[in-house]
Amino acid sequence: MQASHITADQIDALLPQTQCGKCGHPGCLPYAKAIVDGEAINRCPPGGQRTADALATLLDKAPLPLAQPAESPLLAVIDEDICIGCTKCIKACPVDAILGAPKQMHSILRDECTGCELCVMPCPVDCISMVPHPGWLAAHAEQEQHAWLAHRATQGRQRHQAHIARIAQWEAEALERRRTRRHQRIATPTSPAASTPTDDAALRRRLKIKLARMKRDDSLRPQLEAQLQALGGQTAARPVTPVVQQARSQRIALAAAEDTLRRAERHLAHCQRQEGPMEVAAAQEQLERAQHQLERARQALDPT
Ligand code: SF4
Ligand code: SF4
Ligand code: SF4
Repeated sequence: MQASHITADQIDALLPQTQCGKCGHPGCLPYAKAIVDGEAINRCPPGGQRTADALATLLDKAPLPLAQPAESPLLAVIDEDICIGCTKCIKACPVDAILGAPKQMHSILRDECTGCELCVMPCPVDCISMVPHPGWLAAHAEQEQHAWLAHRATQGRQRHQAHIARIAQWEAEALERRRTRRHQRIATPTSPAASTPTDDAALRRRLKIKLARMKRDDSLRPQLEAQLQALGGQTAARPVTPVVQQARSQRIALAAAEDTLRRAERHLAHCQRQEGPMEVAAAQEQLERAQHQLERARQALDPT
């Protein structure tokens, strides 16, 4: 079979489905798609050398050594005496393997956890530890290990797809609620005949602010513009110049770089408390990269 005929689904079938993002992509399927587009095949630490070799065979490429050390299957464990029930770990879990509610103790569903470690960094009280997965430790023979990994991959893929569908539905419902609220707000104060000149001026101001904040393709824009015209206001939107657009993008990049630095600092603190020298060194490198990134973002915004 020619490598050019290999699909992302065929590649995804070989990936371990922890959805950990250590390959630099937000999940196994996005990494599989990136491989189709030419990305290196040696970026998956949970898959180990075996996965890199299987990818090389499938794609008819030369085998490559792993870019990062291989990792054995892990399980997250919450110290329930310390957990404050903040729910940050639930939001981070790509396979919905954490149970809990606000201000209540949280626990991990042992058989569903893929060991991705994504819940560790967001925990504000550092009460999540990663341990070797007992299911993996119990699988001694090679055949048992294959079966365990295949089961984890099938479950990880299904649960991640369900997770994505749940988030998409939640976002669609939230968007619909926001739209309904906006329609209700706009519908209420739109009776120019009944309003006084002072009301009109205040309403014009509010409508102008809404129009200025609104995206150009927003479906509510014509309705707002009609209301503003009925009140005698101008509707011409201020053009967004390339300079303004660039400044906006740079401010967004700066905020993202500051956020990355905060995460890297917390990750380093976590490693210093709970991990070994290799993890601490890796976290320090991550912190330095985040500092450089922040420096570059600051310089882009203010080159003086
Ligand atoms: S297991 Fe993690 S590193 Fe490997 S492909 Fe999936 S998301 Fe990427
Ligand atoms: S519980 Fe933590 S380690 Fe386990 S799958 Fe969820 S985020 Fe990953
Ligand atoms: S992030 Fe930590 S403290 Fe918050 S609910 Fe999860 S385990 Fe508990």
